[in-house]
Amino acid sequence: MRLASLGSGSRGNATLVQHRDTTLLVDNGFSLRKFSHRLQRFNMQPGDIDAVLLTHEHSDHSGGIARLCSSHQIPLWTAVGTARAVLPTEFQYQTLIADQPVSIGDIEIMPVTVPHDANEPLQFIFREIDNGKRLGILTDTGHITSHIIKAFGGLNGLLLEFNYDPKMLESGPYPAKLKQRVGGNHGHLSNLQSLELLQKIDTSELSCLIAAHISENNNNPSIVADLISQLQDVPAPVLANQDEGFDWITL
Ligand SMILES: [Zn+2]
Ligand SMILES: [Zn+2]
Repeated sequence: MRLASLGSGSRGNATLVQHRDTTLLVDNGFSLRKFSHRLQRFNMQPGDIDAVLLTHEHSDHSGGIARLCSSHQIPLWTAVGTARAVLPTEFQYQTLIADQPVSIGDIEIMPVTVPHDANEPLQFIFREIDNGKRLGILTDTGHITSHIIKAFGGLNGLLLEFNYDPKMLESGPYPAKLKQRVGGNHGHLSNLQSLELLQKIDTSELSCLIAAHISENNNNPSIVADLISQLQDVPAPVLANQDEGFDWITL
């Protein structure tokens, strides 16, 4: 299994997950034009995507979903609460339910409930149906629950949110209300919260780690890299960025 990103952060997210003949897209916060343009970097076209999974309704994840799926007839999978929040009423989609795995082609997807200020937010764990290697994606999460610790242990690959540095958020440009939202229990993971997750889960099989959804205002990639380098037995992270995302990484 391998993954790549077309961009990661509060101005738009889109992540490709591919195994054998199956290509999935997680979220699309980009206009169709921008999305198609960014996809060319991978020598791909929208029609190469077998299915789209939508984590939640915030526009940095959902902004380009309906247009992409309808203009290229790509099946969309999401939770009922997310669909109600963001899709036109007549829009056809496949339902995802937390803790109920679904298989699409060569990949099994396990939706995991996370605490975030959205209707029915889900994050995902992908499993190769033939070989069993597993990849987790965890962003847009306000705090670490025991359910998350259980679900995200023993993975081969992990894309994990390192949203903000608490001191930078505190002294940064956001209005007080937004600071409270981001730093709150249903906002985003701080560097320290994500570091703590890495200390609590089994990382013995982890061969690739991607630090993602790094705030451009309230964080600094070098702080994230420094913090992770203090952990033993965790691979040096790839740092996803807003404009470039990252190139294919194979588990
Ligand atoms: Zn969100
Ligand atoms: Zn987001």
